[in-house]
Amino acid sequence: MNPALEMREISKEFPGVRALDAVSFDCLPGEVHAICGENGAGKSTLMKVLGGSYRPDAGEIRIGGSVMRLTHPREAAQAGIAIIHQELSLLPHRSVTENIFMGHELVRKGFAGMLLDRAAMRGRAVALLQRVGARISPDDIVAELSIAEQQLVEIAKALLLDARILVLDEPTAALDDRDARHLLDLIRALRGQGVALVYISHRMPEVAAIADRVTVLKDGRLVWTRPQAEATIPAIVSAMVGRDLKDFYPAAPASAPGETVLQLQDVRAAGLPGISLSLRRGEILGVAGLEDSGKGQLARLLAGDLRPEGGTARLAGEPMPLGNPRRVIAAGLGYLPADRKREGLTLRQSVRDNAALALRAMRPAWARPGAGVFAKEALDAGLSRMDVRAAHYGQDIGALSGGNQQKAIIARWLALDPAVLLFVEPTRGIDIAAKAAIYQTMRDTADQGRGIIVVSSDLPELIGISDRILVMHRGTIQGELPRGASEQEIMRLSLGVAA
Ligand code: ADP
Ligand code: MG
Repeated sequence: MNPALEMREISKEFPGVRALDAVSFDCLPGEVHAICGENGAGKSTLMKVLGGSYRPDAGEIRIGGSVMRLTHPREAAQAGIAIIHQELSLLPHRSVTENIFMGHELVRKGFAGMLLDRAAMRGRAVALLQRVGARISPDDIVAELSIAEQQLVEIAKALLLDARILVLDEPTAALDDRDARHLLDLIRALRGQGVALVYISHRMPEVAAIADRVTVLKDGRLVWTRPQAEATIPAIVSAMVGRDLKDFYPAAPASAPGETVLQLQDVRAAGLPGISLSLRRGEILGVAGLEDSGKGQLARLLAGDLRPEGGTARLAGEPMPLGNPRRVIAAGLGYLPADRKREGLTLRQSVRDNAALALRAMRPAWARPGAGVFAKEALDAGLSRMDVRAAHYGQDIGALSGGNQQKAIIARWLALDPAVLLFVEPTRGIDIAAKAAIYQTMRDTADQGRGIIVVSSDLPELIGISDRILVMHRGTIQGELPRGASEQEIMRLSLGVAA
């Protein structure tokens, strides 16, 4: 069978970055070809070259066997290529129908010339929405739809233009499980209709479930392309990071933990009928639990965001000012929340300013500008120690990958030298190589004599990183497990089944 799409030896350089280095890629009609690679591997660039958004420095593109020069997205669309980018491109204040037909409006003859044929467009929109399984009205305003629904509108638009090549760039990253399953079903249906599908995702189980072939990119180079049977998840992951999974989590510390740095004694607060725990210097303490187990409340309590109703707490040898986030920080606890985008950092600020934010929020005399710790050099040294990859530290932090954002936040906290660092879902939405770097940083940070608490829903992560795991159920600590606990043991305690 002739490939629907063939890219040969595509190279693309940006100032200072070789984004693609002689990458070849093809996709057959009726095939799902997945592209995997850590952030910055070149996946989106390869697809933007295909979509006519970037002009390659070298290489050749064939569509249906003929060489094409795609110098504009319009030319790619005419060649039957549709790309659903990570950033959706719909007009938010227009209706679904208007968006589907944008630039391809249907017209009819009226008395005074050509008129938009709204009825015909609406009718076809209904049919297209049905085909993609979107349960929305063609008259809905796009801004009021969920991300999943907006994505389906984009796919409907691609189908209107009869795209034979459909690229989905991390389409499920923002979707919940049900919407993601629906999208995968739709991809299977389109495959059955002979569409060539390029599927970019970080979610390995999805790739394993749906891809007929898998290509792995790393640092702008092709690592390999393999049929599904030879593209197992461990094979993909080690190709992405170029290292074996056994080195993924840092080794357990050689020495025993030090003195107690944090202690709660029967602390009560909303949803927490009584918490006692202790943490030593040099220790990584994991906190597990299901969605409503109270582990989120515990994190809020520790961060000073929840008023205690009784009990005692000590941090770094002093009474802990629970119920006051600012004073908790000043007393030596650094807090890295789950929702980095909302709580953790301000995206329109430079990497360096973000790192300085924690210092500025506190404003103790020693952290004021000019007092040394605020120095640009000190922050930059921290950022580079953390291997934060940015064009320069004056760059907007929003432009960085999730992993680099998280590293920048860690750097800013380390600049404060906290006694305890509290991480909540530290690697959610972060690619695998950045995950490994963050785990190593946690270990190093603990080894330097700090206490680390990791609240996470990711069991393999908790097991891999923690020296000890507390399991929560109904607002209480149901049990404690040593390093090396199994997922089953954690799950039993999470479900409230006695161990
Ligand atoms: P992926 O999609 O695999 O995460 P990208 O294709 O977005 O990776 O990026 C590949 C490399 O090219 C990265 O180092 C990225 O910073 C760089 N890059 C991508 N687009 C641009 C651009 N418009 N200008 C400069 N550098 C870019
Ligand atoms: Mg990308």
